[in-house]
Amino acid sequence: MKLLAVLPLVALLLGAIPAPVRDPQIAAMVDAVSVARLRADEAKLVGFGTRNDFSETSSTATHGVFAARDWIRAQFESIAKSSDGRMSVALDTYVQPKTARTPRAVTESSVIATLRGDEPGPIYIMSSHYDDCNGDCTNGTRVAPGADDNGSGTAAVLEAARVMVPHHFRGTIVFATFDGEELGLWGSQHYADELKQQGAHVVADLNDDIVGNTHGGDGSREPHVIRVFSQALPLGADPARVNLIGSENDSPSREIARYVGAVIPAYVGGFTVRQIFRADRFLRGGDQESFQADGFPAIRFVEPHENFTHQHQNVRVERGVQYGDLPQFLDYAYLANATRANVAALASLALAPEPPRDAQLVMKRLGYDSTLRWKPVSGATSYEIVWRATDAAQWQHVKNVGNVTQATVAVSKDDDILGVRAVDAKGHRSYVSYPLPVRER
Ligand SMILES: [Zn+2]
Repeated sequence: MKLLAVLPLVALLLGAIPAPVRDPQIAAMVDAVSVARLRADEAKLVGFGTRNDFSETSSTATHGVFAARDWIRAQFESIAKSSDGRMSVALDTYVQPKTARTPRAVTESSVIATLRGDEPGPIYIMSSHYDDCNGDCTNGTRVAPGADDNGSGTAAVLEAARVMVPHHFRGTIVFATFDGEELGLWGSQHYADELKQQGAHVVADLNDDIVGNTHGGDGSREPHVIRVFSQALPLGADPARVNLIGSENDSPSREIARYVGAVIPAYVGGFTVRQIFRADRFLRGGDQESFQADGFPAIRFVEPHENFTHQHQNVRVERGVQYGDLPQFLDYAYLANATRANVAALASLALAPEPPRDAQLVMKRLGYDSTLRWKPVSGATSYEIVWRATDAAQWQHVKNVGNVTQATVAVSKDDDILGVRAVDAKGHRSYVSYPLPVRER
């Protein structure tokens, strides 16, 4: 008993990383998430009958993908009223030409709500897609409820916007609901390309796709877990160099995954992240990949055990089995926790300074310690160097080195992986920047 009581103190003295401290402002946002509103939003989205991309020409005020789009836009516009003019709502509309998979060109229209941050620059995105598919992704007439895929993610984005918009953040937050995901990540790619062309500084995309069900098709059930997928290497990374320095487990996307894995349990009691160190599931994909493709760090949230009789299925009963992505299969308490997890992660990121820029590991001579340097970032009042064993999945140790842009720690760069993160006056932390080794004479 005595030994157990002393252990945390010993850990601290040894530089072990303490759990994130709860910020009351973030906790208030997390606690404001409403199960009833999520349920009502789901019912509304399913009520449009179909959100298939090819229902765009047959949409009415109450039916089809553009009825859903107009309703989502109206929701964001209503939410924006509590933003003191900081939130704007726009459609990202374009004509997607016919492809090998599609019978004709189709108009795509994503809904993008942007909450301006107090400081210009860093952008944090929470995304989902609102289009759906019942197995026949180019059929605009049949019923396609899309309750879990991806009414769940869309309801989560709307609810996160509701609870976060009254608050001020250092960074700009984009609440995005994309069209055209089911046919090739079209809406997200179109929007990510626009951001890239503008030279936008996207620090993170948290993509939510299928976050509302807890009954796996194989009988598995873990209602207190959410999976986070993160891609290893940034696109275009040089494999030879990655092999040489052992940086394959430290893409910015993976640092975001580690960050949310630490933050979420601090705000959502009993809820934990299962890290999946790959871009997405086999034979599947998601809008986070569009951001990755444009060089923007991104992760995907998804429920722990999916049910494939409910996804991308025509609504029908076959041999006594109900197929279809229907709202009765959702677990709204789980969807609320998934939403709270996003709010905790997104608020923690957007209140914090951005990660230190241009982090470097200085290679000058053989030695027993490690020197890191970086460019300062706005709002940081100190920086922390973190490290872990090369075969450890999560950061293990931390040392605050003060408000400097270079520091040396008594840690072997040969045996450990090091990183640096920014801390503000209130203790908000960025995710970790991995320092690229730089040779110096
Ligand atoms: Zn989806």
